[in-house]
Amino acid sequence: MNTPYWLESSEGKTYETLQDDLSTDYLIIGGGITGITCLYLLSSMGLNVTLIDAGRIGYGSSGRNTGKATCQHGYIYSRIEKTYGLEMARLYYKINNAAIQFIEDMTKKYNIDCQFRRLPAYMFTRDENFVGKLEKEFVLYQKLSIDCSYEEEIPVPLKVLGALKMNNQAQFHPKRFVDKMAEVAVNQGGRIFEGARVIDFKPGKECIIYLESGKKIAARNVIISSHYPCYDGKGFYFARMRPDRSYIVGIEMDNFPDAHFINIEKPTISLRHIPEEKILLISGQSHKTGHKGDVNHYESLKELAWEIFKTDAVKYQWSAQDYIPHDYVPYAGYINSDYKNIFVATGYRKWGLTNSIAAAMTITDLIKEQASEYEELFSNSRVLDFVSLNFLKENADVAINWVAGKLTLGESGIPEDKDVGIVVNVNGKRCGYYRDLDDNIYLVDITCPHVGCELKWNSQEKSWDCPCHGSRFDYKGNILEGPAEYSLNSYREPKNKINPQIK
Ligand SMILES: Cc1cc2nc3c(=O)[nH]c(=O)nc-3n(C[C@H](O)[C@H](O)[C@H](O)COP(=O)(O)OP(=O)(O)OC[C@H]3O[C@@H](n4cnc5c(N)ncnc54)[C@H](O)[C@@H]3O)c2cc1C
Repeated sequence: MNTPYWLESSEGKTYETLQDDLSTDYLIIGGGITGITCLYLLSSMGLNVTLIDAGRIGYGSSGRNTGKATCQHGYIYSRIEKTYGLEMARLYYKINNAAIQFIEDMTKKYNIDCQFRRLPAYMFTRDENFVGKLEKEFVLYQKLSIDCSYEEEIPVPLKVLGALKMNNQAQFHPKRFVDKMAEVAVNQGGRIFEGARVIDFKPGKECIIYLESGKKIAARNVIISSHYPCYDGKGFYFARMRPDRSYIVGIEMDNFPDAHFINIEKPTISLRHIPEEKILLISGQSHKTGHKGDVNHYESLKELAWEIFKTDAVKYQWSAQDYIPHDYVPYAGYINSDYKNIFVATGYRKWGLTNSIAAAMTITDLIKEQASEYEELFSNSRVLDFVSLNFLKENADVAINWVAGKLTLGESGIPEDKDVGIVVNVNGKRCGYYRDLDDNIYLVDITCPHVGCELKWNSQEKSWDCPCHGSRFDYKGNILEGPAEYSLNSYREPKNKINPQIK
């Protein structure tokens, strides 16, 4: 039941694994919507370009979202204007709008069966403390000449205190889009290898990338689009973003207004219909990864579905995470100012279906012209993100979680119940314990192989999640996502190997 609708309803080709060492002009690491768009753009320029993915393309966050393509990303324009000025807010709108157009153009050009449709997006509030923010955002929409209106009501059974309607936004099936764009890119000469996890990275005029399989790749230019950058390159991305999870339920619903909706306060209520399947996606319950692991988030969303729509006909449920920069603006461009042949794209704060394309366009311009109109907006050399209060708060939280795990000893008793994950103390060694429904017991070392924080049990996904930087592992210890490059060792094996950012 936790398989996203997007993955269940798309076939997708499988691509070969890398059998030999390889040399390439451009290497893209990560085959989500960012990497595949880069592959498409670079291969259409006739460049020698290869994409590798640790698993299968489109199975990361790009196959697990709500499929909204919009420039309405919370009150982002007020935030950017306050920190970086109106011109930067204008550029953010311009490139995200171009990204929606790109999706539409590609859909038409390659006849992609991805349910693309234009519709309005609504951002509403039911909290009087947020009415002022909504009104301020409306003023900015007008300054930026965005096609919009301020509404007192919305066409769903929710009483609101105000709503901002942005016209001519869109929605689509992100996984089918990624699959087809990958096929087109391969037809243009791009290469894709799956099952190729990067575990080490040596920068240089020619970068050497080491894979878990033992193979290595020499690349003159590298684009890191692994969601969380698998190589940090002294960009300090680990300190500049926090991982945040959200949950989605899909309920049966025949008729729904032709629009999508989201509020600006917490808890989030996001509504997005899939008319082709008569399913309404309701998402929310966001929290920092590795926190609130014992809360039944799906149950809370089901209660919400009942409260608003009086239905409990749930057909799908799944969850995913994304990375939130402290100043809310993504990173896209040179990994740092010393390496002009290594690029990174990350930090889309759950608005990556357009920001990914914005990032791919920016990086392609930097490659083609050595300049981009958006370089400054997305640059990692901006310093205001570093001095924000969020930066201090999040990094204090990382330190607390790092230390807290070392001090507490864990339960020494083993629970009677099945399907329970808990930290136990076995012969003085702290372990993550999980007993499945068939009575198999799994004991793993729960020190995160990224920087050594202690992992927390996530009862919804049966995973061990890192509260510091968002790495996640299944109860057997296999990597699910995040910056960690190594799996968890079992109780009988030596301690986990820690590799803080593949240097
Ligand atoms: C609940 C939720 C709902 C969302 N809804 C929306 C929405 O409606 N609209 C919107 O605009 N955005 C939305 N987003 C955000 C959006 O889904 C993401 O920002 C976007 O998909 C990120 O794409 P990506 O290509 O960067 O990453 P991914 O799609 O995660 O791709 C990264 C790839 O890198 C690979 N990889 C990772 N590490 C390595 C390694 N070491 N070696 C090789 N490969 C590696 C992974 O296997 C993966 O395939 C949502 C996010 C969440 C969490």
